[in-house]
Amino acid sequence: MAVRTGEEFLAGLRDGRRVWLGGERVADVTAHPELAGFARTLAGVYDLQHDPSLGDLLVMESPTSGEPVSRGYCLPTSMDELLRRREMIEHLSRLTGGTVGRLPEYMATIVAGLYDVRAVLAAENPEYAENVEAYLEHCREGDLSLTHSFADIPRDARIPRDRFNNLRVVEHRDGGVVVDGVKAVASLAPFADEYVALAPNRPGLSSDEIVYFAVPVDTDGLRLYCRRSLAQPTAAGRPLSAGFDEQDCWVVFDRVLVPRARVFYLQRTEVHMGLLQQVLVWAFYHILIRMACKAEALAGIGALAAEYLGREDQATQLQLCELYGYTETLRAFLAAAEQNAVTTDGGHLIPNPTQITLGRIHAVDHHPRILQAVRELSGSGILMAPLPEDLANPEIAAAVEANLVGPDPRTLDRYRVLNLAWEYACDSFGARQLLFEMHNAGAQLRTKQRLAQEYDAEPLKRLARDLADRGRRGGT
Ligand SMILES: Cc1cc2nc3c(=O)[nH]c(=O)nc-3n(C[C@H](O)[C@H](O)[C@H](O)COP(=O)(O)OP(=O)(O)OC[C@H]3O[C@@H](n4cnc5c(N)ncnc54)[C@H](O)[C@@H]3O)c2cc1C
Repeated sequence: MAVRTGEEFLAGLRDGRRVWLGGERVADVTAHPELAGFARTLAGVYDLQHDPSLGDLLVMESPTSGEPVSRGYCLPTSMDELLRRREMIEHLSRLTGGTVGRLPEYMATIVAGLYDVRAVLAAENPEYAENVEAYLEHCREGDLSLTHSFADIPRDARIPRDRFNNLRVVEHRDGGVVVDGVKAVASLAPFADEYVALAPNRPGLSSDEIVYFAVPVDTDGLRLYCRRSLAQPTAAGRPLSAGFDEQDCWVVFDRVLVPRARVFYLQRTEVHMGLLQQVLVWAFYHILIRMACKAEALAGIGALAAEYLGREDQATQLQLCELYGYTETLRAFLAAAEQNAVTTDGGHLIPNPTQITLGRIHAVDHHPRILQAVRELSGSGILMAPLPEDLANPEIAAAVEANLVGPDPRTLDRYRVLNLAWEYACDSFGARQLLFEMHNAGAQLRTKQRLAQEYDAEPLKRLARDLADRGRRGGT
């Protein structure tokens, strides 16, 4: 099958999936008032694949069918392919201002990551590698939307772990494995065709918790419990929350049979941690690209806010410097990672993992300050900017015209930008955005610990020793 249309994608979601929102079962995620907006956004992304004006930006020729398929499934072996895929991610990220983390091309990077490590999987069981190869083709040719999760539910570490129902294998059968338990957060899950499980990235796992697999979202025994919706029923004045609430769900498995052909890895805890990092390497790159696009949008908001208010004072310039510096720093990390790209054991080109990790650490650490800069530049207008429904009232519109617009015809443009700023930096949609950046690819603390453990500090230590010796030698 070639790339799907938006309508075909939406039809695939009407499959009787078990989704709950606000305590009630959702009959059809494409029609529910708090889910339909994002379903339409995703359908629009599918339609873009057919837009002739984009040429082959989003699609490539399938290596098996020759049909156009999503470029997200490109397994780069050259710099040109790597950068072409980056352009695709940038294009899609800019459409949503970097607020949607899990468009289908994100998950494609994880399936590609599984494919890249198939030699490691084959060393454990050749069937796993065959399953991953077949799954990549299944997703690529079916143009599927996927969701995934690895993290377990946060819990009191003093209570024995086996008292909690973390997702694990409870039975091995000839036809597959039976899994039972829960995963903490799967973004985009109500809008996915299939669910991909990866094992958690925390220490102290038991072998039955090491399970990588995929199943369709409508599989018997699989339930999705959505968090509260952040979607706004009306798009006017709410450009982000109207269409970009991708949702996050608990995923509950009640003795679900995973067919043997969809099991990708089982059991060995000592292999799993290294494996997970390799599988996610293109996903981490995707996150940094998307965050750079979000940085562009936030810097643009700050620049406009300052311009509309005619502010050229020192405090404003310092805030703008911070916004521009953040954007350029993320771009610099991306460029450095691409320039220092490495070839994996699987034979594919990946951006330098150290620079990608450091870029993500920088992006997440500085994100709250960037939001603060936007708030400061916006002043109280971020709170008070009237919405289109306010302006639809003739009395309020007249008051706005007389008291706020006055001699400045750009005032209504400014309010539109401030309403956008509100969604990024102040309301519940923005709060979830910040949480997403903090946590979506694992706790920042663990990312930093891993970086400190794995960083090649030998050249740095050598330099320090040489300098110290120079002192001992008396400066020669
Ligand atoms: C909006 C959102 C969307 C998400 N989407 C997805 C998704 O699509 N797929 C998916 O797999 N996951 C997703 N996640 C979950 C994410 O993977 C986890 O939140 C992440 O791995 C962190 O795990 P945790 O929440 O259990 O927090 P923890 O690991 O418990 O960390 C919580 C806090 O405790 C700190 N901490 C942890 N361990 C220690 C320690 N030993 N000492 C001191 N401090 C410590 C951390 O630094 C962190 O600040 C999402 C999360 C959010 C918030």
